[in-house]
Amino acid sequence: MAGCNEKIYAEVILPLFSEGYTYLVPPGLAAGVVPGSCVVVPLGKSKVYTGVVRSVGTEAPPAGRMREIISVQDQVPVVSPTRLKLWEWVADYYMCTVGEVMRVALPSALKPSGWSGEEVAGKEYRTPTETHLALGPAASDESTLNEAFEKLSKRARTQYESLLRLVQLLGEDHPFGRSVPRRLADIPYGVLHQLQLKGLVAQHEVKVGPVAVESEFAGLPHLSPAQETALQGIREHFRQRDVVLLHGVTGSGKTEIYIRLIAEQLAAGRDVLYLLPEIAMTAQLVGRIRKFFGDRVVPYHSSYTRTRKTAAYIRAASSPGGTLIVGVRSSVFLPGANVGLIIVDEEHDPSYKNHESAPRYNARDTAVVLAAMAGAKTLLGSATPALETYVNARTGKYGYVALTERYGGAVLPRVVISDTITASKRGERKSHFNKQLLDSISKALDDGRQVMLFQNRRGFSPYVECGQCGWTASCPNCNVTLTYHKSGRNLRCHYCGHSAALPDRCPACNQPSVEPRGFGTEKIETELEPFFPQARIERLDRDTATSATRFERIISDFERGRTDILVGTQMITKGFDFEGVSVVGVLNADNLLAYPDFRASERAFQLLTQVAGRAGRRETEGLVVIQTSQPKHPVIVQAAAGDYAAMARGQLDERREFFYPPFCRIVSIRLRHRDAQVVRQAAAALAERLRLIFGKRVCGPQPPPVDRIRGEFIESVLLKVERESPFSKAKKLLAAETRELHRQEGFRQVSVTCDVDPI
Ligand code: ADP
Ligand code: ZN
Ligand code: ZN
Repeated sequence: MAGCNEKIYAEVILPLFSEGYTYLVPPGLAAGVVPGSCVVVPLGKSKVYTGVVRSVGTEAPPAGRMREIISVQDQVPVVSPTRLKLWEWVADYYMCTVGEVMRVALPSALKPSGWSGEEVAGKEYRTPTETHLALGPAASDESTLNEAFEKLSKRARTQYESLLRLVQLLGEDHPFGRSVPRRLADIPYGVLHQLQLKGLVAQHEVKVGPVAVESEFAGLPHLSPAQETALQGIREHFRQRDVVLLHGVTGSGKTEIYIRLIAEQLAAGRDVLYLLPEIAMTAQLVGRIRKFFGDRVVPYHSSYTRTRKTAAYIRAASSPGGTLIVGVRSSVFLPGANVGLIIVDEEHDPSYKNHESAPRYNARDTAVVLAAMAGAKTLLGSATPALETYVNARTGKYGYVALTERYGGAVLPRVVISDTITASKRGERKSHFNKQLLDSISKALDDGRQVMLFQNRRGFSPYVECGQCGWTASCPNCNVTLTYHKSGRNLRCHYCGHSAALPDRCPACNQPSVEPRGFGTEKIETELEPFFPQARIERLDRDTATSATRFERIISDFERGRTDILVGTQMITKGFDFEGVSVVGVLNADNLLAYPDFRASERAFQLLTQVAGRAGRRETEGLVVIQTSQPKHPVIVQAAAGDYAAMARGQLDERREFFYPPFCRIVSIRLRHRDAQVVRQAAAALAERLRLIFGKRVCGPQPPPVDRIRGEFIESVLLKVERESPFSKAKKLLAAETRELHRQEGFRQVSVTCDVDPI
């Protein structure tokens, strides 16, 4: 106990960029102010925020006037020490503030802010409650109840009937001391009021509690011998290691193995977190696992409403164990200390990395850290593991379990490489399709099967150009060409959202010669139609999947065979399980390879393998046609052969030689400013200072491929740090240098962001 005169202070995390907010704890609130509790505090002249207590102590901070905590939000579950520790780790590792972590880790409904205490109080989270009815004091036993019925039967027929109905619901043999939800009793308000006045019925609020769940899991899948061996292997490794990589080819039935491991954990009263890279995949998966785990499944993702997200958060955070959280990236912040297992499916997927705003965390790596903090295990699953993960697994840091055959006798698809140049020379190429691909599509459709066509969008968006003078439409705010959208006949910037009408005449030469160029999924769809007039063709990309619902509809139409051909971008490559697909076509593999990025080849391999993996997932063998002008390119050949090991060997050799991850760690530093001159000078100054410390480990500055976004010019500097040297120290030095840069007159307004382990 603190002495009477001793003051108590609390450091509070606020969802802001700066940190170090300390408040005085009023004696009346002391009991509720503990690390992790939600508190309402004043800030500045008139603002009020909800924050999370980071620490509590009696040592007076050096600051002068100290303000008081206004109130404690005791309806919100306390952020557990494990999760607070995780927030601290993310902030430290990814170079941001704990407040920025809090912003994504806590649903917005739980951290209201406003201009006054009342305003915030109005928005505070309240545990949902339900009104229950019970018998009142004037009907508390058999005799008084009978007396009441006696009286009512003569004078108040509706009251009599309502009371009777309530007693029936409460259980006629012994209705006393029990309650039922009012909505079940369905008693008109006026009647209820009368009964209450007479003391015959009492009403009270009951918190909507955890749902009752069954503890037996019926009908768990029987595993094939190969799956059983893999499961044993995983269990074996978990005895000595905290992380295991399940490297299982597409269609090998990794999900069924996860289901078995999940069942064990839930039965033992522990929580499980199951991460997926894509919202649409959560829908497909939740449908598949609800039949085993019912109400224990708590799905969570960003397109949920505030209320739904908050409810899921509360359930996960206050779970006594036995809850299965299924979600995308940000769900990594949900589990409490009871978590026993974290599954990261498709662990190689770049969507796990948040690169747009702080915290720029990778949910896969964060999951591994969380599991270690909570004493849990992590299972990473993929058919095409990230090279970082693969190296960790091959060097014994992680356990490694391979599953090399498809489930149920399905075989991996046959892959053919179709040379676009040869096809053109022979006159066997029409529009974007080689004859070989068209023939395969015809055959599949004749057999009543389905087809998926993949077109990489990046770098190949349709744009418009003047046929006379070569003018192209570009964004006034960003250094990119505008993308042409045929459906709306308009031009749009994919970086800032700027949109413009398609000009009738060229703004430069005034000729009516502005024409679409390049080819995106929309163009493919249009040009495919004349070849297959009977086929039902759908397209899945950012333009058609404008909402989660539309995405799910396109997917489910295809799943149910209402669509014959699905044309799409990366979106169709994710781990979907469609049984009717026999042919998968890759329209142009060249543009996957032509990336100015050290990960280009790895990504190309992953994409091609994942796309190919959608074909022939049941009895009949699938066929994959990869169109390319570089049929001999090692990555194309490796992907066609399904030879991950060869890809890994080749790529790791290159990475070692040019000193890239996994042989070093990278921090990518971006500087932005409205003035091109200022940002260039600032970047040069920062790079120079960094060189004094890190020498040739500093690359740049150089402008990124898109060097102007929303009117700001961008420069980037890369810092490479040896695996062996202390990364946190390097980052501290880097942070100090960026602060130093901001102290320089002219550079104050340059914004600097650091992306640790960029993808
Ligand atoms: P992966 O995720 O490894 O690509 P999936 O888990 O989607 O593969 O499995 C591929 C298909 O095989 C799915 O339709 C799945 O339901 C089926 N399957 C896999 N294992 C089993 C099993 N043990 N029992 C029944 N069906 C299975
Ligand atoms: Zn022109
Ligand atoms: Zn723009």
